[in-house]
Amino acid sequence: MAEVQITGVNKTFGTVEVIPNLSLTVPNRSFSVLVGPSGCGKSTLLRMIAGLEEVSAGSITIGGEDVTHAEPSDRGIAMVFQSYALYPHMTVRQNIGFGLKLAKTPKAEIDARVDEAAEILQLGPLLDRKPKQLSGGQRQRVAIGRSIVRKPKVFLFDEPLSNLDAALRTQMRVELAELHSKLDATMIYVTHDQVEAMTMADQIVIMKAGIIQQVGRPMDLYNAPDNPFVAGFIGSPK
Ligand code: ADP
Ligand code: MG
Repeated sequence: MAEVQITGVNKTFGTVEVIPNLSLTVPNRSFSVLVGPSGCGKSTLLRMIAGLEEVSAGSITIGGEDVTHAEPSDRGIAMVFQSYALYPHMTVRQNIGFGLKLAKTPKAEIDARVDEAAEILQLGPLLDRKPKQLSGGQRQRVAIGRSIVRKPKVFLFDEPLSNLDAALRTQMRVELAELHSKLDATMIYVTHDQVEAMTMADQIVIMKAGIIQQVGRPMDLYNAPDNPFVAGFIGSPK
């Protein structure tokens, strides 16, 4: 069980209140997509769930456990970023296993988990290559591989496809959907792209200026937007 429950969260930087009072339930094993214009607080919310940013007020539970003040490494989450810096001098196998090595995981177990991740992501034939010998899409898969090997309950994606070209984005959308169905994990996916939200989400969360405008299934938001902002963002007919 890895439902994510956010209750009454406030985030204030100095005197600037970026998120006034946000509550949200992300169902266990859902693919929830958080959308909204640039600067509305999507990354900030994700970073608070990950523990990379302290909440100013409120609480966060993951799988029923209060993680509001837990270390990022104790939350059972993995975060995949837009810029996926791989270590250029390491092979794909070493890049994927690096976090486990830092955690002093025995080598045999690292190898087994890297092989398993490579199988899921179809990286098997590429394990001995260096990042510069990979395409953009393959590099992104290696970055996702680094998160899979840690067996997180919750994956957090912050605009992971925004550096890829259109064709590759379409392919990666399909691959992420497949990944979601293969893994027993909850995924929270941030994007500012309506098409990604409409095609990938079980649940869309629309934000504007730190405030959730509506939460629901894509077609429900499309057919019954709560306000003109949601209608405009989703592209509902007038
Ligand atoms: P999004 O990911 O939706 O584009 P962000 O969460 O990155 O938005 O940012 C939301 C707002 O919070 C922006 O106005 C941004 O300038 C501000 N912000 C984010 N991080 C900080 C920080 N560390 N210090 C001050 N302001 C910040
Ligand atoms: Mg952002």
